[in-house]
Amino acid sequence: MNFEDYRGVWVFVEEKDGAPAPVSLELLGAGRKLADKRKTELAGVLIGENNGALAKTVLEYGADKVYVYDDPIYRFYRTETYMKAMLDCVEKHKPEILLYGATSTGKDLASAVATDLPTGLTADTTQLDVEEDTGLLLASRPAFGGNIMATILCKKYRPQMATVRPKVMKALPRQEAASGEVVKESLPLREDDIRTKVLEIVRSTTRHVRIDEADVIVAGGKGLGGPAGFQVVHRLAEALGAAVGASRDVVEAGWIEHHHQVGQTGLTVTPKVYFAIGISGAIQHVVGMQNSGLIIAINKDPAAPIFQTCHYGIVGDALTVVPMLTEAFLSALA
Ligand code: FAD
Repeated sequence: MNFEDYRGVWVFVEEKDGAPAPVSLELLGAGRKLADKRKTELAGVLIGENNGALAKTVLEYGADKVYVYDDPIYRFYRTETYMKAMLDCVEKHKPEILLYGATSTGKDLASAVATDLPTGLTADTTQLDVEEDTGLLLASRPAFGGNIMATILCKKYRPQMATVRPKVMKALPRQEAASGEVVKESLPLREDDIRTKVLEIVRSTTRHVRIDEADVIVAGGKGLGGPAGFQVVHRLAEALGAAVGASRDVVEAGWIEHHHQVGQTGLTVTPKVYFAIGISGAIQHVVGMQNSGLIIAINKDPAAPIFQTCHYGIVGDALTVVPMLTEAFLSALA
């Protein structure tokens, strides 16, 4: 493998409801820094149907170039079609670094591409840097229960690939006057050759705000005693228009679905305000929320570790304190 053939930093730009997913914009911001340090170009890869207008948005958020695969066969995400497009693009244009958002689509695509290309993949990265002279990507992520940050290198193969957690990188301000190159790509794929068919898309009817996009999260833990006690969390979240988060023990007890779980084996979140209610503050939970803007903990044990992480703490029974807070917020916001 000749490393000299591989140039540029790429971002897979995931589309969500006709716009780039927030994490893709964050990655364009992070990718811009890597590309500038390496004195190379930043490119986005767009795969979809009627996605021409999105190409301009990708340039406006920092890319020098966008590779566009635009075909009805890419209308819905399918591992097979998107993987074929990405492999085609990588084989033709050879990036040095290729980043994906650590969303369900990004993780699926990155791992499928990594099974075909002779290269590695660092999952769930939270910090990125590059060695200016060698181009070696320094992809860091929490390891061993969040007690250390491991920096993972891919020394022998190219491209170097990583999935990056949402909300940890910063998007650049949009530059509406930005221009760049749009490269149209195509592949002779036939629907009959694709094994997966999308018959219907059923939108989730959940009324909950997503925790990875929320400004305010009200999270509850095992201290709430059971699903009935956990309702105080739902009511406070509703009063504040917030998302509901949970510790792993709550998810494992079946009080709420896994996509509400915060922490090492759940999601990393950085809301402006995070309420930790009846949550002990185990390291595996804290790694997922410690970068929140304002952390307010409510716990009946004054020695609970969560009080080491929070900005404000209330020592008391959550089943009494939280309904009082909810009432106070409801009247203040009425
Ligand atoms: P507990 O530890 O049982 O704490 C309950 C807290 O509530 C206590 O502090 C108690 O004082 C308080 N309390 C009790 N009653 C009341 C009341 N009436 N009012 C107020 N406070 C009260 N955990 C995660 O959260 N996310 C993860 O992603 C995650 N990943 C993990 C990965 C690995 C490999 C391992 C080993 C563990 C992981 N865990 C994770 C589990 C983690 O170690 C803890 O077990 C878990 O976070 C504890 O959940 P908890 O705080 O809800 O419950």
